[in-house]
Amino acid sequence: MRNCRICGADDFKTVIDFGESPLVNSLLTEEEIVKPDETYPLLVEQCQSCFLVQIVEPIGGQRIYRNQDYLYYSGDMPGLKEYFEKFSNELQSLIIQDFSTPFIVEIGSNDGLMLNQFRHKQVRILGVDPSSNVVVRALKNGIPTISDFFSERLAKSIEKEMGKAKLIGGANCIAHLDDLHDFVRGVNVLLDYNGVFWIECNYWGGMVKNKNAALIYHDHFSYFTLQNWIDFMGNKNFQVFDAYVTPAQGGSLRIFIDRGKRQVTTRMKMLHDEEVSSNLNSYETAVQYEKDVREEATKLRAVIDKIKSEGKTIAGYGAAAKGFSVLQLAGIGAQHIDYFVDDSPAKQGKFTPVHHIPVISREEAEENFPDYFFITAPNYADVIIAKEKERWDSDIKFILVTGEIISTK
Ligand SMILES: [Zn+2]
Repeated sequence: MRNCRICGADDFKTVIDFGESPLVNSLLTEEEIVKPDETYPLLVEQCQSCFLVQIVEPIGGQRIYRNQDYLYYSGDMPGLKEYFEKFSNELQSLIIQDFSTPFIVEIGSNDGLMLNQFRHKQVRILGVDPSSNVVVRALKNGIPTISDFFSERLAKSIEKEMGKAKLIGGANCIAHLDDLHDFVRGVNVLLDYNGVFWIECNYWGGMVKNKNAALIYHDHFSYFTLQNWIDFMGNKNFQVFDAYVTPAQGGSLRIFIDRGKRQVTTRMKMLHDEEVSSNLNSYETAVQYEKDVREEATKLRAVIDKIKSEGKTIAGYGAAAKGFSVLQLAGIGAQHIDYFVDDSPAKQGKFTPVHHIPVISREEAEENFPDYFFITAPNYADVIIAKEKERWDSDIKFILVTGEIISTK
């Protein structure tokens, strides 16, 4: 029996059960597809005490990050550079009073895309990321990075060598952590008295609103609300003083935390009010969520079945982690998707888990052009459609995870 990752209670109710599911970021080689598939239960539950939505018994982070090449490079994701450029300017204003050389740390820094924005300013930077292959890429790009999980132990050694940090933060890393308490103890050790700790994480409120299950997979252990963070940080002598929803991942939660020095912002109060009035932090909302995403999956399946019954071909656009859970929910497999196209050379020539759908390059796809592209990552749909519209004179048809069909003509 496990306890809630935030409050320690042990009273859980099921939100959604995907059953046995493959690890989504692990594409297979030709040799690997003949072996039996590795699958693990994917069960999302909600703590009935603090209402954190979570995978209560995750498979180990070590398995996800260490035992295989983790195939996600920030630098390969469309639109992410501009997104971080904008955000780094915002962060810059938080350290601007510091005329010496402020020290900033990014956790889950991946290939250093975000820290690179600070490289030419009077700032000392350090990245921390457990995935060794992305760290190699970061080092190649000149971003000092430690290949490890952020913990109290690591924070102590960083503090000893480099001093306190003005800014500590991480985008899309906190959901991957099982021991949040150790993580926060680490922040407490390393953060300057006036420093700011920021987090960007998946937002349960956005998932509910958009009926979105694309973010649910094994390596996302927690699905947060603002209320979860207010309670959790309050118990650790920190305060959340600012929060808002960004467009990333179809609606991510970005929060700013300090030791109680700053005024709580109006936009944070508004977001909190919205959570209260929509009854977000409740089991009733979670039950409605499951109903909604299953309905969405059924709708999508009907659209795909109809297209296949007309003898048309469908190519998956981008073999991204996001979207595989939706395929699982809708029962979409090799009989529906002819192949995946992906611009990342690390993925080409591989196969998706369980269904063994090949991942090919854009050049190969052009020789065998599909009737429809299916965009599995809903958060990139706009960027992808705009890009392809520019590229082709002919009519290209896209299927979105909502079942909606978009034509470029
Ligand atoms: Zn709890």
